Amino acid sequence: MSNLNIVPLKDWGFNFERPIIISGPCSCETEEQMLETAQRLADKGIHVLRAGIWKPRTRPGMFEGIGKEGLAWLVNAAKQIGKPTTVEVATAQHVEEALEAGIDILWIGARTTVNPFSVQEVADALRGVDIPVLVKNPINPDLQLWLGSMERLNAVGITKLGAIHRGFSSYEKSKYRNKPMWELPVELRRLYPNMPIIVDPSHICGVRDLIPSVSQKALDLDFDGLMIESHRDPDNAWSDASQQVTPERLGEIVSSLVVRSSKLDDYAENKLEALRAQIDRIDNYMLEIMGERMEIARKIGEFKRDNGITILQTNRWDEIIHDRVKKAAKKELTEDFVKDLMEAVHQESIRHQTKIMNNILAE
Ligand code: PEP
Ligand code: MN
Repeated sequence: MSNLNIVPLKDWGFNFERPIIISGPCSCETEEQMLETAQRLADKGIHVLRAGIWKPRTRPGMFEGIGKEGLAWLVNAAKQIGKPTTVEVATAQHVEEALEAGIDILWIGARTTVNPFSVQEVADALRGVDIPVLVKNPINPDLQLWLGSMERLNAVGITKLGAIHRGFSSYEKSKYRNKPMWELPVELRRLYPNMPIIVDPSHICGVRDLIPSVSQKALDLDFDGLMIESHRDPDNAWSDASQQVTPERLGEIVSSLVVRSSKLDDYAENKLEALRAQIDRIDNYMLEIMGERMEIARKIGEFKRDNGITILQTNRWDEIIHDRVKKAAKKELTEDFVKDLMEAVHQESIRHQTKIMNNILAE
């Protein structure tokens, strides 16, 4: 495992209080738009003003960012409201121009994190520079790639390092623009408890209505802050119109957040201890019955082997999924959960049967 050297957020030289709120437009469009958005955000509890200057777009022909001249508009707007700034950088030239303009925090976008050549180029341009860098997760759910980007930055001396969780692209239809797959940032937190993790509900949700619930979930998972896109006139934004909110709405979202503590007092510790003991008991029981289930799967494997029958019996599998989903609904278990659970159990069962049939432990 990599060993990242990370400066805790409290030592980044800002006066940040959890949850840190980063807000501002998806894209910097005009000087007036930047200034008005910032002024309307001034008293909404934000800590950092964001704006995209160079925009990585999925298809050509869309607005690809205002470029270098927007940097001065962003810096000036932030100065008016006394906040630090952050922008996305994807090339050495972006880094050079952002540093020259006096940007305070850089972030690396999801489409850049996936590409080690690009990350290395950005890292090389940052050698010897002491600036915080937030690394968005790669568009695909690959924790190693995410960590790899941070290692490249760490190797050139960037230690004020944080992560931004913005969800993961998927082919499946979902209510989210990018599936949250919370297990990835949760694993990152487990590996690096000191690393600040900011959640970006705007790019996870893709539509503004879902932003409050995802924001609250992020805080309840004890992440450090939120990056939410805001615009003076969201519906007419030049990029990501459907997910941006007005500065006033941003203020409402921020003030309705419930900030809970991750610290346990003695009362909570005792109360939870009893409940956790029950959870441990149930987990142990679950492992035991899974072991039993696989024993039966191996017997089925022997029978199929001796009788020349394939491992996968699609009809039977279809029947299992339908039956288990139906039964689980009565126990208030979600369909997604039961499908994932049964798929994992089925895959393990196939592994056991494959081993019996071919006398190997297949993947
Ligand atoms: C953005 O923050 O505007 C952006 C382009 O995000 P992402 O890299 O997460 O797509
Ligand atoms: Mn955006």
